Amino acid sequence: MISHVLPTYNRALFSFVKGEGSWLTSEDGSRYLDLGAGIAVNVLGHAHPVLVGALTEQARKLWHVSNLYRIPEQERLADLLVENTFADTVFFTNSGTEAAELAIKMARKYWYDKGQLDRVEIIAFEGAFHGRSTGAIAAAGAEKMVKGFGPLMPGFTHLKFGDHDALRAAVTDKTAAIIIEPVQGEGGIRVLPDVCLKGLRDLADATGALLIFDEVQCGMGRTGKLFAHEWAGVAPDIMMVAKGIGGGFPLGAVLATEKAASGMVVGTHGSTYGGNPLGCAVGAAVVGVVADDAFLAEVRRKGVRFWQGLERLVAAHPAVFEAVRGQGLILGLKCNVINTNVVKAAYAEHLLMVPAADNMVRLLPALNILDEDIEESLVRLNRTAAALEKVI
Ligand SMILES: *Cc1c(COP(=O)(O)O)cnc(C)c1O
Repeated sequence: MISHVLPTYNRALFSFVKGEGSWLTSEDGSRYLDLGAGIAVNVLGHAHPVLVGALTEQARKLWHVSNLYRIPEQERLADLLVENTFADTVFFTNSGTEAAELAIKMARKYWYDKGQLDRVEIIAFEGAFHGRSTGAIAAAGAEKMVKGFGPLMPGFTHLKFGDHDALRAAVTDKTAAIIIEPVQGEGGIRVLPDVCLKGLRDLADATGALLIFDEVQCGMGRTGKLFAHEWAGVAPDIMMVAKGIGGGFPLGAVLATEKAASGMVVGTHGSTYGGNPLGCAVGAAVVGVVADDAFLAEVRRKGVRFWQGLERLVAAHPAVFEAVRGQGLILGLKCNVINTNVVKAAYAEHLLMVPAADNMVRLLPALNILDEDIEESLVRLNRTAAALEKVI
């Protein structure tokens, strides 16, 4: 008999009742060190007092009103994002998938309004993940996500990561946009080199195609800059944000330049919940903490510290781990054993990690993880590897 919860996940059997910082407490009272952070969501850890304060204060005043009215909390969050990024304007969603949908619509509408009605093609990349809607799976294109769900939204071309010749050949006067994650998350913590992001910007400028960065996972401070593309010194025309921006409250956003957003006039898009006072009050609290030079410098320092520990781990356990990947606190371990077995073995050490494609395990801790918790993670990872070595 089917479970009452639609069985689309292969879930671990434990569950959690409470969280604090980088720690979760399970039903039986035991504590787990959380390097998954709800898949890069809990950027300030669990139950951060600033976020609890923002949420409860807003909850007492006003949860939800329609976008039929001005929403000052939404305007405040938009102001913060515009002040801190390339963007001129922001639309709020409830998820990354919805941000992908709007990014695609925005790019196509831009060319429609210019009278280029057949300029609808969008170039995307193998290994990409943009969400689970019909549009987002068409954009990512991976067999395991699209199989059985056709016919897919047409207009997407998928290129190999790093094949520059194929890319130059693929971008034509029918290309509306290029969409890419500066650091692939689900795809296996693959960091796009700065020179590639610069090359994409140049190609977009030369052809007019709009450049869409999906920073749903790698944004909001995770790489040690507020957004990952800042490392390369280039900006997109459109950017998708979600996961970390709500710190655990479902919130996403599309950020865009005035030019890229020019087609999105009254009536072209909407959302019932997107940008409601409760979500935006929390989002503003998150951005208020993360968009701070001192905070981001700490993320970079902790990222280096974690990386160095992981390098030692890999060197000590070559039968289990092959390499470290990532930037800042979006880190991954390439495994020499089956990655899901590593995740399960870590559960036994009460350490939570997340698998990814390319036989990787992901480490996406809270950005404010304590140094002592980084050290404790490394101790537990070493124990995990030692346990796996016994059964290889
Ligand atoms: C998680 C993710 C999405 C989808 O976000 P949801 O909030 O799950 O809809 C899109 N793009 C990237 C890069 C992601 O990591």
